[in-house]
Amino acid sequence: EVFDLETHTRVMAQLQLENDLRRAVQFLESPDTLKHNQFIVYYQPITCLKTGLIAGFEALLRWQHPQLGMVSPVQFIPIAEETGLIALLGQWVLEEACHQLRLWESYGYHRLTMAVNLSGCQLSRPDLLEKIDQIIHKSQIHADHLKLEITESMIINNADYVKQVLSQLKQRSIKLCMDDFGTGYSSLSYLHRFPLDILKIDKSFVSNMGEDGEHSDIVMTIINLAHHLNMEVIAEGVETLGQLKILSELGCEWGQGYFFSRPMDGKRALSLLENQL
Ligand code: C2E
Ligand code: CA
Ligand code: CA
Ligand code: CA
Repeated sequence: EVFDLETHTRVMAQLQLENDLRRAVQFLESPDTLKHNQFIVYYQPITCLKTGLIAGFEALLRWQHPQLGMVSPVQFIPIAEETGLIALLGQWVLEEACHQLRLWESYGYHRLTMAVNLSGCQLSRPDLLEKIDQIIHKSQIHADHLKLEITESMIINNADYVKQVLSQLKQRSIKLCMDDFGTGYSSLSYLHRFPLDILKIDKSFVSNMGEDGEHSDIVMTIINLAHHLNMEVIAEGVETLGQLKILSELGCEWGQGYFFSRPMDGKRALSLLENQL
């Protein structure tokens, strides 16, 4: 077989990235975190479509690589999951996001919610609930202001165990969101078997809406389905006023996307809040 330089280069780059990620995550545990921390949490507003006001934020992780610059979570989250680094990293995001929410509350924004993405690895860890309890206790936020976002693939594997964990989260009044809805290949039957509060329509449906009637029909069907199951709906990837209008007409509760705002750091998110009142 011919030596494939391209594959070789790609594999080396991947290994390098994995090493760098390991080191960056290790810094999260060092006493000198502030100096070495390469991670930052960005926040993207989730807007109430009825009032036009910001109802809360989704925490989105960013990695500022010393040489490569910003690395997308699409690139490093899978590596973090494969290597188990997501356990520490995910916990850090949760801590950071809850702390940020508490800070905004101290500025008078008492009703905001914070959505944090969970990975499958985190969900299957036996210490998840304990960690979440600790973080809520330490940050002193209301548990019902915290939303955890999970995806379809996470609840299909190990359904019974996941259902049990989700029920325990619900007992604490934490809200549960089904993220990227419609992109998995699962059946719909799980929807009412799991204690979900919110359904997030994947941006692929939203972005094609308006250009053809078909996608609007799909979005309408998803919204109606969610409402029948007593769930509220967040539309992701709202980029245009046209999309916003259709979503409002269809009775979608919340919107998230570049039309409202890109994800931003905590300081800028605060000034966004200050400017809307
Ligand atoms: P996601 O959870 O579906 O997050 C939404 C993604 O859509 C974000 O990408 C966001 O920046 C992007 N987005 C928001 N509005 C728009 C829009 O109007 N148009 C378009 N085209 N995109 C929009 P991001 O921040 O790059 O994150 C990508 C994915 O990485 C997330 O998808 C999530 O699956 C994962 N991720 C991010 N942060 C975390 C984390 O802390 N933990 C875990 N487990 N996963 C994370
Ligand atoms: Ca999400
Ligand atoms: Ca999503
Ligand atoms: Ca996604």
